[in-house]
Amino acid sequence: MDIYIGIDVGSVSTNVVAMDQNDHIIFKEYTRTNGQPLESVKKGLKLLEEDLKRIFYTVKGVGTTGSGRQLAGILVGADIVKNEITAHATATVNFHPTVNTILEIGGQDSKIIIIQDKMVVDFAMNTVCAAGTGSFLDHQSERLGVPIQDFGGLALTAKKDVRIAGRCTVFAESDMIAKQQYGFSKAEIIKGLCDALVRNYINNLGRGKALKAPYVFQGGVAANKGIKAAFERELGCEIIIPKYYNVMGAIGAAILAKEYIEVSGEETKFRGFGAAELAFKPRSFECEDCANCCEVIKVELNGKTVAIWGDKCGKWANSVTG
Ligand code: SF4
Repeated sequence: MDIYIGIDVGSVSTNVVAMDQNDHIIFKEYTRTNGQPLESVKKGLKLLEEDLKRIFYTVKGVGTTGSGRQLAGILVGADIVKNEITAHATATVNFHPTVNTILEIGGQDSKIIIIQDKMVVDFAMNTVCAAGTGSFLDHQSERLGVPIQDFGGLALTAKKDVRIAGRCTVFAESDMIAKQQYGFSKAEIIKGLCDALVRNYINNLGRGKALKAPYVFQGGVAANKGIKAAFERELGCEIIIPKYYNVMGAIGAAILAKEYIEVSGEETKFRGFGAAELAFKPRSFECEDCANCCEVIKVELNGKTVAIWGDKCGKWANSVTG
């Protein structure tokens, strides 16, 4: 069997998928990054290697995406390294070709992608405001003493509506505490919180955009039934949750790798599963040669620099001879 591997390295999760030549997902792994992107990619690759022992296979291509895509790309020998917008849109269009709007909420960022005729025509990303992300919900679930997996289900049992100020995490938290003191139940507070998060998301990311059904909602937060229901109330229509909602970026990277290999006819640059054992050493420094003060990331293998990125002018990246 020919397989294509996709890896999505984000700040919260690292996802690894393997797909066959017919775009069937034969392996998927969602793991916490825990601030160690290299280690989490290695772990994902080891689990994949173990899983693949059950079949005869040839790795034909590998793609990486996510905020750690360059690092992961160097580690595995990726054939393509793509941004998250392209990767997510590719996967969604593959499974839901008529999609017009992709709503994506992950652990620490969120995005909206507008699609027309299977092409990305507009998008927006939020990487700075925690109020519209999974980490905000995690924090509130801890504060309310309700496990995050029960959070959405509990919201669906609310008898009354309560409006929570969701513009920022600090306001939301103090407003929730006040509403609890007024006697609203946990279910009602959580429903109010889901509505606040969705309002915040639509107002910030959807502002000025042509939001149109069909809507596909993906990312880790798509597991939360309360948020899905809040989107349906706000947008007035049904929201589709894809089967592989929490690994769509990795699937997109695998599909893009497959397309690249098929079109170019090249052999994959995949280093093999042994790459997980290689001692890559990443480090960062701030370039002070101009006012941009870029944070430059440098990766070394056996004392040799194998990759540099983060420099806006290419001054450092161009010095890598390969
Ligand atoms: S890497 Fe280039 S753009 Fe960035 S601070 Fe240095 S000189 Fe300026």
